[in-house]
Amino acid sequence: MIHASHLSKVYKTGVLETVALSDVSFDIKKGEFVAIMGPSGSGKSTLMHILGALDRPTSGTYILDGKNVGDLSDDALADIRNQKIGFIFQAFNLLPRTSALRNVSLPLAYAGMPKIEREERARKYLELVGLKDRMHHTSAQLSGGQQQRVAIARGLAMNPAILLADEPTGNIASSQSAEIMAIFQKLNNEGHTIVMITHEPDIAEHAKRIIFVRDGALRGDEVVKKRRIAK
Ligand code: ADP
Ligand code: MG
Repeated sequence: MIHASHLSKVYKTGVLETVALSDVSFDIKKGEFVAIMGPSGSGKSTLMHILGALDRPTSGTYILDGKNVGDLSDDALADIRNQKIGFIFQAFNLLPRTSALRNVSLPLAYAGMPKIEREERARKYLELVGLKDRMHHTSAQLSGGQQQRVAIARGLAMNPAILLADEPTGNIASSQSAEIMAIFQKLNNEGHTIVMITHEPDIAEHAKRIIFVRDGALRGDEVVKKRRIAK
């Protein structure tokens, strides 16, 4: 599903060069649930941007579902993003004053899906994340955990090859983090491939495998032995 080979990323600001990522290689197979963990400034967001086809590496090869992302034009990159990746962000990125149903169905409208079909699909995924009775609530009328569940439904609705989450529990009360992890584990059990970026070890331990990064380099790649199961 993902083949990352010798990825490096150097940011240039004026005369200053920052090496955010240095020679990072790993593979992620279909059906895996992987956490990418490291402290602040370790290069996690940089890696997420590359994996999510939001940015290209300075050097190295990134192959996503058979496509070499480094070779693609900006338009092709946008297409890959829309087709293959369901994004879940720390800050939810939902439209305010807009219902959960509309937040999930709007990207489907942009993708050209007819109204009846997209509403049906939005309802299905909102139900899947446990928000059957909150579909007509606006973002402001939902808790952080519920807003993140709307964002998960939105990420799933396009039927992506991978779900890519950047600090998905970073902005929600810790009491609600478990419900997000429970949904990820359920989705993974159903076959979804999930890549989750986090700096919190107890969140990472809900995944099946942890890739450790530090100072832009890969520092470990391990199967989680005592996996946490969220309820
Ligand atoms: P993390 O998400 O793990 O906190 P980042 O990927 O955001 O780490 O950052 C890794 C390093 O790259 C940091 O030293 C950061 O200051 C630097 N960096 C990140 N984005 C940029 C940018 N757009 N321009 C310059 N430097 C950047
Ligand atoms: Mg970050």
